[in-house]
Amino acid sequence: MDRKKTAVIAIGGNSLIKSNAHQSIEDQYQAAKETTFHIADMIESGWNVAIGHGNGPQVGLILRQSEVSAKAEGTPETPLDVCGAESQGMIGFMLQQNLQNELFQRKINQNVATVITQVLVDINDPAFKNPTKPIGGFMTEEQARHKRDELGWSVVEDAGRGWRRVVASPDPKEVVELDTVKALIAAGVIVITVCGGGIPVYDKGNGDYVGAPAVIDKDFASSLLAQEIDADLFVISTAVEKVALNYGKPNEQWLDRITSAEARQYISEGHFAKGSMLPKVQAILRYLDNTGKQALITNPENIGRALKGETGTWIVP
Ligand code: ADP
Ligand code: MG
Repeated sequence: MDRKKTAVIAIGGNSLIKSNAHQSIEDQYQAAKETTFHIADMIESGWNVAIGHGNGPQVGLILRQSEVSAKAEGTPETPLDVCGAESQGMIGFMLQQNLQNELFQRKINQNVATVITQVLVDINDPAFKNPTKPIGGFMTEEQARHKRDELGWSVVEDAGRGWRRVVASPDPKEVVELDTVKALIAAGVIVITVCGGGIPVYDKGNGDYVGAPAVIDKDFASSLLAQEIDADLFVISTAVEKVALNYGKPNEQWLDRITSAEARQYISEGHFAKGSMLPKVQAILRYLDNTGKQALITNPENIGRALKGETGTWIVP
């Protein structure tokens, strides 16, 4: 029998929380249900799937709950690494249960498991001196200024959509639970892993891991996972059907298929916004360079059509 093809699919944290008005657990659960429906289509059509996902808005909410409750009630604050672990459990649960339910309805006999996943970073990574990763909800410029002055947050304007807090985003070096993830995939389990890019940890020097005050980009962590499990395809599922040149401008041009050389050219021309589309294209280039395979960027509802070559942006070597 032919080996089943394996895809790593990275789901955007922003496609699980669709807007500021849709942050309730019920809304998140519904968004997870919609997304897993499309992933079930992929599984039904014969793909083995490992799922990575973002946690930016969710980890921001967890952090905020911790901060507000600490201020109001004096409860202990939750450090960022533990917030990350909480978000992995919460989002993983919503995806896992929805996907299990959907597979059961379709009479597909496959198990789903969420792996709390740590990702090794280098504590000397220059990123720790230059925070760039947006976390938490969107703020007005005035709210952002207030947070910066009051709490010492680093804040930036995010792709024309509002202001957000930024934290260090070091490069992922190694998926700590890689062997576990590989064993589960080999056993036919659908694995949810590197959630929120993984919990960043560093080696204290004696082999002991300790959490780092940072957030790893889920696009880079998912790319690393795709490389390390030798996935046949890397899919980034986000809020847009395709990638554009001159995004949001009158001369916007949607891309169907680009080579890695063209992608590099468009990066140098500044077409992909920092902190949103740029890391996706960069993450895909790392995967392409190291595997020679292809990658796809599209939104959840178009994954099926995109796999048939009908839409999405394909990036090829
Ligand atoms: P995710 O939560 O999936 O990681 P992001 O918000 O980080 O999503 O990145 C996806 C967003 O990137 C899109 O919704 C879009 O607003 C923005 N974007 C920036 N540049 C581009 C581009 N050139 N083409 C398409 N989308 C872009
Ligand atoms: Mg993102």
